[in-house]
Amino acid sequence: MSQCLFCRIAAKEIPAKIVFEDTLCVAFEDINPQAPHHVLLIPKKHVATLDDLTSSEEPLFGHLVTVAARIARERGVAKTGYRLVANCQAGAGQSVFHVHVHLLGGRPFHWPPG
Ligand code: 5GP
Ligand code: ZN
Repeated sequence: MSQCLFCRIAAKEIPAKIVFEDTLCVAFEDINPQAPHHVLLIPKKHVATLDDLTSSEEPLFGHLVTVAARIARERGVAKTGYRLVANCQAGAGQSVFHVHVHLLGGRPFHWPPG
């Protein structure tokens, strides 16, 4: 059994509110939402950080982005605006070491981010 939290969510060993799934990825509600819409998108394949992605995973990561954009459209936040965030390493706020994209929407976002 994998020790990785997100691998275990993808394998349904740990429950999560899954909002979308296909052969490549899973999208689920963040347990500690930072906005009215806060969805995490993960590849089913374990990759620890953005820094570990290889060129062969470009389509996989691109898929996460297009799925996130579709979820944003479905939730009606695409026109008002939303933010995609991918933290790489602890210094940038990464706490789960399985690559993921945060989809945040439903409130204003400021720049620069914290
Ligand atoms: P990071 O800090 O690595 O960029 O993002 C990890 C995210 O995973 C955080 O926003 C955190 O709230 C979320 N998270 C951590 N543990 C769980 C969990 O068990 N279930 C769900 N759904 N989200 C989690
Ligand atoms: Zn994993």
